[in-house]
This record gives sequence, C-alpha cells and structure tokens, in this order.
Amino acid sequence: MRPLKIVVLAKQVPDTRNVGPDAMKEDGTVNRAVLPAIFNPDDLNALEMALQIKDRVKGTEVIILTMGPKRAADLIREGLYRGADTGIMVSDRRFGGADTLATSYTLSMAIKKICNVDLVVGGVQAIDGDTAQTGPQTAEKIGYPQVTYIEELIDISDTFAIVKRRLEKGVETVKTPLPVLMTVSGTYDECRPRNAKKVMKYKYARTFTELEREPDHIKARIESDKSLFIPEWTVEDINAEHEKIGLPGSPTKVKDVENVVLTAKEAKVLNSNDTDIDLMMGELIGSHIIG
Ligand SMILES: Cc1cc2nc3c(=O)[nH]c(=O)nc-3n(C[C@H](O)[C@H](O)[C@H](O)COP(=O)(O)OP(=O)(O)OC[C@H]3O[C@@H](n4cnc5c(N)ncnc54)[C@H](O)[C@@H]3O)c2cc1C
Repeated sequence: MRPLKIVVLAKQVPDTRNVGPDAMKEDGTVNRAVLPAIFNPDDLNALEMALQIKDRVKGTEVIILTMGPKRAADLIREGLYRGADTGIMVSDRRFGGADTLATSYTLSMAIKKICNVDLVVGGVQAIDGDTAQTGPQTAEKIGYPQVTYIEELIDISDTFAIVKRRLEKGVETVKTPLPVLMTVSGTYDECRPRNAKKVMKYKYARTFTELEREPDHIKARIESDKSLFIPEWTVEDINAEHEKIGLPGSPTKVKDVENVVLTAKEAKVLNSNDTDIDLMMGELIGSHIIG
C-alpha cells in the first residue's frame, strides 16, 4: 500500500473550559489575556487519528494546517511534539475577521497548494466559534466527500476508509472512497502525549517571522535542518481572491456577545403540580420564549 498524505486542520482557541469571572470584558468580548491559547480539543483527537494511520501505513505524512495569528506557531510545535511531520501556518492580517465561509475558503486554497492530499481530518467543532461548519464547507470547496462525527477508525487503505460515526440515535458504519475529508469527535481516542525526543528537536522549530527575532546560533541551527522551518503562507502564497477572505469574504458578523448571568430574582421555585406548570407555560408563551 502506498503512503498517504494527511492534512490535519487545527485551530488555536482560547481555553473556554476554564472560564473564571474575568473571562469576559465589560464590552462582552473575550478577555484573551486571561484565557490561555490551546490546541482545539477535537483537533487533538483528529491528530491522533492521523497519527494512528501513520503508525499503520509506513511513509505516511502528517501535516498540521492552521489559519491564525503569528502566535499559532505554538500550536504547530505542539503537533510536532506529538508526532506530526510538518506544519503550515496560513497567517496574514488580511485573513482576520473570517467567518466559517472565509475560513473554509482559505483552508481549501492552502490544501490545494499542498496538493495530492488523500485525507483531510479536523475536529468536529472549535470550542470558541462552535459552529462545526468549517470542516463540511472545506470539503465542498476542495470537492472531497465528507464523513462527520467520527469516533472510530476501523480500516484504511489507499483507496478507501471504514469509520464509525456517532449520530443522535446510534452509530453508523461508513465506507468512503479516498480522498475524503473527515471530522473527528471528542469521543475518538485521546491524543498521545508529547514525545520527549521530539520536544528536544522541535522546540527550535520557527516560522520566518519568529526566526528574525532569534539570536544567530538558533538561526544557524534552523538553517542547517530544514525540518525546523515552519512555512508561513500569505494571501498571495495560496492565490486567494481578496474578496473571499477575512472581513470582506465574511457575510456573518458577530454583532454582540452578551454575558448572561442569572440572578436570584430571575429564579423561580415551582412545585411539580399542574397549577404551577400551567402558570410557567403561560409566562413562557406570554414572553415569547416559547410559542
Ligand atoms: C462567539 C462567536 C460566534 C461566532 N459565530 C459565527 C457564526 O454564527 N457563523 C460563522 O460563520 N462564524 C462565526 N464565528 C466565527 C468563527 O469562529 C470563525 O469563522 C472560525 O474561524 C471558524 O469557525 P468555528 O470556530 O465555528 O470552527 P468550527 O467550524 O466549529 O471548527 C471545526 C473544525 O474546523 C477546523 N478549523 C476551524 N477553524 C480553523 C482554522 N482557523 N485553522 C485550521 N482549522 C480550523 C478545526 O479542525 C475545527 O475543529 C463566530 C465566532 C465567535 C467567537
């Protein structure tokens, strides 16, 4: 069986699972300064699936692909520590403010540039935007079939894959031809930990922007080992059309994010009798919450 080329879509996200009282600013936006940036949890499951395939199929290449600000290089290093072969950062101020349409367009152009990709895997959803749209939209744009909500890999060859996907009322086993895009759910196997030898090597991996700020001995180390160089692609590098990226390419605008805190005076204690339930239904219908 020939080796496969796998792209793992990974997003750096604020750690919204450990939200404290200062996580939101007064204007309702996320206070990124107090939330550490982490590898999106589902994307770690997707990376694990790619690495399991690499373990099974000799010579398989695993490439992390992320669109994000310059600090997203940390995410690529994290992927390299866990076993990815390379990582690519798609980073340019003009990509900023992207909704899922513009994000998936940008990722699709990068995948086309990578070329001959057998398998694209990503998480089901990111814990900040939470839309679960980016994977399916990317599949449409690269013309690959898509299989979503995967929780088990049963078999893979260079022409097909068999996977189990979790549905609301059960589990579906799907056989799909390759190439394909798959989104992997958080119930898939947990990602393997960092490998000590890889940490020792890839802690020196740098993007061009980072390299410029490094002392000469680090520059020399990276120049002598090209695997330590993290490519950084701009709008021009992926041949993206300006009106399809960033804010101009994003019809969805997040107008406002509201921090809803329920106070005691909004809470009501009801008894489980018909009168109280009728009363509550009447209030909910009257205030148009249901109806
Ligand atoms: C509060 C809030 C609400 C939002 N609401 C909307 C909305 O209603 N509609 C809309 O279009 N956009 C919305 N956005 C913007 C949205 O977060 C971005 O478009 C984001 O880049 C991708 O969407 P997502 O985070 O929902 O990712 P999801 O679609 O949930 O991500 C699924 C998977 O796609 C891959 N992926 C996603 N982004 C990247 C990336 N940058 N690089 C590499 N892989 C990636 C990862 O594998 C990820 O697990 C919202 C953002 C915020 C903060």
